[in-house]
Amino acid sequence: MAAAGGVRVNAEIKDLTRIERIGAHSHIRGLGLDDALEARKVSQGMVGQTAARKAAGVILQMIKDGAIAGRAVLLAGQPGTGKTAIAMGMAKALGEETPFAMMAASEIFSLEMSKTEALTQAFRKAIGVRIKEETEIIEGEVVEIEIDRPESGNVAKTGKLTMKTTEMETLYDLGQKMIESLQKERVQAGDVVAIDKASGKVTKLGRSFARSRDYDAMGPSTRFVQCPEGELQKRKEVVHVVTLHEIDVINSRTQGFLALFAGDTGEIRSEVREQIDTKVAEWREEGKAEIVPGVLFIDEVHMLDIECFSFLNRALENDMAPVLVVATNRGITKIRGTEYRSPHGIPIDLLDRLLIITTQPYEEDEIRLILDIRCEEEDVEMTDEAKELLTKIGHETSLRYAIQLITSASIVCQKRKGNEVDIEDISRVYQMFCDVKRSTQYLLEYQEQYMFSELPEDDREEM
Ligand code: ATP
Repeated sequence: MAAAGGVRVNAEIKDLTRIERIGAHSHIRGLGLDDALEARKVSQGMVGQTAARKAAGVILQMIKDGAIAGRAVLLAGQPGTGKTAIAMGMAKALGEETPFAMMAASEIFSLEMSKTEALTQAFRKAIGVRIKEETEIIEGEVVEIEIDRPESGNVAKTGKLTMKTTEMETLYDLGQKMIESLQKERVQAGDVVAIDKASGKVTKLGRSFARSRDYDAMGPSTRFVQCPEGELQKRKEVVHVVTLHEIDVINSRTQGFLALFAGDTGEIRSEVREQIDTKVAEWREEGKAEIVPGVLFIDEVHMLDIECFSFLNRALENDMAPVLVVATNRGITKIRGTEYRSPHGIPIDLLDRLLIITTQPYEEDEIRLILDIRCEEEDVEMTDEAKELLTKIGHETSLRYAIQLITSASIVCQKRKGNEVDIEDISRVYQMFCDVKRSTQYLLEYQEQYMFSELPEDDREEM
């Protein structure tokens, strides 16, 4: 935990608050583009949809270059055409240091906080602050440690440490801090250690220069800058990237640090945010911190209402604004909270700011490739014939439905003590679980027997 001018930041919480991306999109490992930003047909778990992936790659490049803070992108396309998958691919390709916050628009309708508070939190989760700290690190193999022990008691006060680095031997007078950490780390002659000159802290790196592994153990944001050969001193630049939201929560007296673990942050007072913005601006001026605009992804964006849309318009004007990526599968429909219709249910003024990327329905061979990848991801062995059948089902119903049948067919296969999912397992689950078309057909046949089956005209359109 670092404290700077009364505002607290904490680097360790980072991993905890990142969304664990498992499940439907766990096979996506990037956008699958080559250096020229061309989409490979199958790469990093991504199949087809090449034009959209390439466009997403261009946006990504602009984000990496810091060129489009405050811009917005719309992924528009039919259900199951990989909009969320592309957003996930972008998140993966951006890497750990660039914040990527993801939400479904319906999440803003919560009883615990106002819509604007929920959106403000989402925006601040997508804005990173890179905080730099530099310390001098000396690293080498311990040749000898001598600690003076006073006559009475065994508390060490002074001593000497001889270290061998690439070519030279160096002698250090031990301070109390160094002695404490030498004892704590049980450093002995032969160990390789790193000494932080500023704090006197000694870290044991092991018995040999197993560099990368030892450095990893010191935390993901610890970076070592290689010095010219033979030089003893290394500069260690410790870089934390924390989000503005994390700083908000830690400094919010009513919530505090633990709220981050619970994910239950409640509303954050505007004074807290103002104080933090001022502090961050100071750090930026002093060169201690940089803003890392990340990405805020809002799925099902048509679920936002007119107030939220106007909030987004305003929020994008802010000079720290992240890149906003929104997705929808809606056509021309009512803007929530109004009687007006608009493409994708998004007001024209916001639409006008959006770079629109469209996704297309998949061909049969692409569905097959996605199903192959999902089978592998879910560790399901399946015969070629079964995959063919599943592909046909996917083509005629939906890709999502076909993907969902993989796990259920695998369970049916296990129950019959089979080793590989075969055609019979696929047909069993196809009969067991209806796809939307069959379910609708059923409803049409038996609608009199259902409750509230007659939907008013408006609701029909919403469906
Ligand atoms: P909706 O509009 O219904 O939200 P969507 O366009 O966001 O749909 P996804 O959820 O991305 O669709 O896709 C459905 C499933 O298919 C997911 O499991 C996704 O990972 C997978 N998928 C979609 N497109 C691809 C692709 N091009 N390559 C690999 N997997 C894909």
